[in-house]
Amino acid sequence: MSRTRRAKIIATLGPTSSDVETIADLWDAGADVFRLNFSHGTHEDHAARVADIREVEKQVGRPIGILMDLQGPKLRVGTFANDEGVVLQPNATFRLDMDDTPGDENRVGLLHQAIFQALKPGASLLIDDGHLRLDVLDCGEDWAETKVIIAGTMTNRKGVNVPDVTLPLPALTEKDERDLKFGLDQGTDWVALSFVQSPVDVAELKALVDGRATTIAKLEKPAALIHLDDIVKVADGIMIARGDLGVEVPLEQVPVLQKRIVRACRKAGKPAVVATQMLESMIKSPMPTRAEASDVATAVYDGADAVMLSAETAAGKYPVRAVATMDRIISQVEGDEHYLSLMAAGHESPGDTAPDAITAAARQIASDLKAKVIVTYTTSGSTTLRAARERPPSRILCLTPSEIVARQFALVWGVHSVVNTAHTADKDIGTMAVEAALKEGLGDDGDMLVVTAGVPFGAVGSTNMIRVIRIGQKT
Ligand code: PGA
Ligand code: MN
Repeated sequence: MSRTRRAKIIATLGPTSSDVETIADLWDAGADVFRLNFSHGTHEDHAARVADIREVEKQVGRPIGILMDLQGPKLRVGTFANDEGVVLQPNATFRLDMDDTPGDENRVGLLHQAIFQALKPGASLLIDDGHLRLDVLDCGEDWAETKVIIAGTMTNRKGVNVPDVTLPLPALTEKDERDLKFGLDQGTDWVALSFVQSPVDVAELKALVDGRATTIAKLEKPAALIHLDDIVKVADGIMIARGDLGVEVPLEQVPVLQKRIVRACRKAGKPAVVATQMLESMIKSPMPTRAEASDVATAVYDGADAVMLSAETAAGKYPVRAVATMDRIISQVEGDEHYLSLMAAGHESPGDTAPDAITAAARQIASDLKAKVIVTYTTSGSTTLRAARERPPSRILCLTPSEIVARQFALVWGVHSVVNTAHTADKDIGTMAVEAALKEGLGDDGDMLVVTAGVPFGAVGSTNMIRVIRIGQKT
């Protein structure tokens, strides 16, 4: 079975989507990858979800990607003596410190020593997604005296964003390390890390992952944007995490940054995910707003590999409708005659390696011959990523001996992947490509296929051949 949609859908699982039936319905509606948010839930919950997803995978017979999303160094204030929290008045002074006794109108604990060391007078602390703002008047080793700029109620354990400084925090907290080890043992395919600040953070994650999964850097801090190209280079993929990003930078910058980041990803041939509030109103309503429909469409026109649903599918009333709605919006964009020419216009010239040149040639040949499918044989996935980077008008069929690679490509633009464990040395590449295209319903008698592969098989990054085949013709 094959989907015709090119941009992919990531659905976050949560309380309203945590049984096999709902997960199967989400998949049927169009979800390609499921996200497990490790900011919530126990390991037991997540293990049960992984088992459910693998069960659905077996039922539908298609590789499904699982993305584990690590919380990262998320900062939170402590608790208050009064569970209702405290009301902070405009221009009041309010102190943050390392004391874990419950807070009041004058102070609360912020048990992250590193923040105090990095703070400077004038820096802003944004509490509860920016609903409150405190500006630092003075600070020391383990305290900060602040002035209330945006007033309101502060309650227990609300999140804190500090956009103005690069925080000297480790890339992964102890919780993240425990979660990561657990998630990798469960066989998750992608690992996303929140609040990445530098390429070193991503390198640290990659060292721990050690090739067992592919990595995504979530861009949600201004510090990360300074190193955008380097982070894109190190990570396997990028998420434009507009939720926290929109707190850390002025909102009006988010659409511009979204385009800039997607462009950087397309240039590097790395998958880009646009996330958060895409169909936010569907948490409560069976229909999105026109503006939300337009937002999903814009991300697809920008060239995103995947668009993501968070609370819409995790905690909303209409998880399956949200996915189905997203699926319809994407399909409309992809049916627009200008979509592929826009993709082509945003296309970067290929790198100067043989695999890059061969993949670019495959795209050219495929469009000249109106080939239905570009077939890529890949061990590591690098050949298929290159093909996706070309954003060809043909479908991309990824044949790989690796189940993990097949699942990872569930997140990548235009790729339909199939695990192929046939001993390739014993079988002609052309015959295998034709068999797979027919079996997957991607091509019919008389259709053209363009095949790229590295021969001999197995060596990583060795793409060195290209072949044109007509289905039904003797090869
Ligand atoms: P989160 O990340 O949902 O884990 O916060 C996404 C975002 O901030 O947009
Ligand atoms: Mn976030």
